[in-house]
Amino acid sequence: MTETLGSASLPAPARTLPVVAVVGRPNVGKSTLVNRILGRREAVVQDVPGVTRDRVSYDADWNGRSFVLVDTGGWAPDAQGLAAQIAEQAELAIATADAVVLVVDGTVGTLDSDQAVVKVLRRSKKPVVLAVNKVDDQRAEAEAASMWNLGLGEPYAVSALHGRGSGDLLDAVLAALPPTPPLDLDPERGPRRVAIVGKPNVGKSSLLNKLARQQRVVVHDMAGTTVDPVDELVEVDGETYVFIDTAGIRRRVKEASGHEYYASLRTQGAIERAEVCVAVLDASVPLTEQDVRILTSVEEAGRALVIAYNKWDLTDEERRHYLGREVELDIAPFAWASHVNISAQTGRHVDRLGPALQEALTSWETRISTGKLNAFLGRVVAAHPHPVRGGKQPRILFGTQAQAGPPTFVLFTSGQLEPGYQRFVERRLREEFGFVGTPVHVEVRARE
Ligand code: GDP
Ligand code: GDP
Repeated sequence: MTETLGSASLPAPARTLPVVAVVGRPNVGKSTLVNRILGRREAVVQDVPGVTRDRVSYDADWNGRSFVLVDTGGWAPDAQGLAAQIAEQAELAIATADAVVLVVDGTVGTLDSDQAVVKVLRRSKKPVVLAVNKVDDQRAEAEAASMWNLGLGEPYAVSALHGRGSGDLLDAVLAALPPTPPLDLDPERGPRRVAIVGKPNVGKSSLLNKLARQQRVVVHDMAGTTVDPVDELVEVDGETYVFIDTAGIRRRVKEASGHEYYASLRTQGAIERAEVCVAVLDASVPLTEQDVRILTSVEEAGRALVIAYNKWDLTDEERRHYLGREVELDIAPFAWASHVNISAQTGRHVDRLGPALQEALTSWETRISTGKLNAFLGRVVAAHPHPVRGGKQPRILFGTQAQAGPPTFVLFTSGQLEPGYQRFVERRLREEFGFVGTPVHVEVRARE
């Protein structure tokens, strides 16, 4: 009975794109450098010294390695306390970034305000790469070498404007980053993995039989597919899926004592091996805690979810009325899931399962670009700023999608967000981007 548990894989640990922050005095060429790194795709250079920009972040990559590039921007041209502001900006960068690029202007050398940043950076444990910018030709390189005395290691002479030296700089930045596994899901992977879950007698094996009967015969030697003996390849709506642990569903292990414990262990194993789950509920009788527990397991495992309200043929108008109330009461936290009202026995609406699976999987794998996400976050924060508490107002500085499958977002904030505000942002995320059929995870990295 435990054979499938042996092959159950644990959910992937949350993977986060590394964050690189670019800091420095106004006018040293930070934006120009960011543009250079992005290949002039997005950032706008402002030719006015000290112009205030919002802190902005971009998806960047170099040599096949993806990271998030944060242009810590400018600040109000307030000469008073400028050094303090710079130090604060550097502190923020240190708190939220995995590596920091400090840009200094090779044509002016270092100023007191540079020194203020350097102090903060040196005290930190974060890797720092020093970029001496505006080294447009070889003659200027001697100036760059003198920056060794900042105590930040090798100064990289670059010309952000002309591109000189930026490759070496990026190599150094990437070398300073912690290793991350590749993010992209394998496009060569075999069919999607589905688990049918639910308490005993809700109709799991009937549904499986219905699906298996409707399909044409599937050859078990599809390229790139290894199918466990307990699993089955089933075609639904023209798409082939691996249904996980069908042996367990068909065999209906019930006799042994403690079977409930093993059944739930087995369900858990199936959920973890799957990418999408079909949770079967018996619509003809009141929903129970056990139904909700199974839905919670799917959500916590971060799997896509289709809820199948089965035995619809046994429901009358009165039952459907009460079912509606039960759903409002108990299933509200899973309102994001796709759902179908089916009868595994008569075949009613079983054909809607395929499109629901596809919808859920598409949502599960959605990627929102950092630019789009931050444009959205900017609008949300402008329209509904975090409430002020005790004279402080936590702020969302920027965000990035760290992972897909399920969509996982990291928000970088100053101060801790209140749970209510975080839920509000999560709700707005769904309103904006849909995500029907998939859990969405939001993590907050706060600087106090
Ligand atoms: P930021 O305030 O640090 O973001 O600086 P900007 O990127 O806005 O650049 C300030 C000014 O320096 C602009 O006029 C840029 O054209 C100029 N600049 C930036 N990089 C270079 C460079 O490598 N060489 C030269 N000569 N000028 C540069
Ligand atoms: P499992 O334990 O979840 O695999 O449930 P089964 O598929 O074995 O179904 C339990 C019982 O419910 C069986 O007697 C089925 O015939 C019956 N059943 C399953 N689906 C339906 C349905 O849609 N309508 C009706 N009327 N009975 C169903």
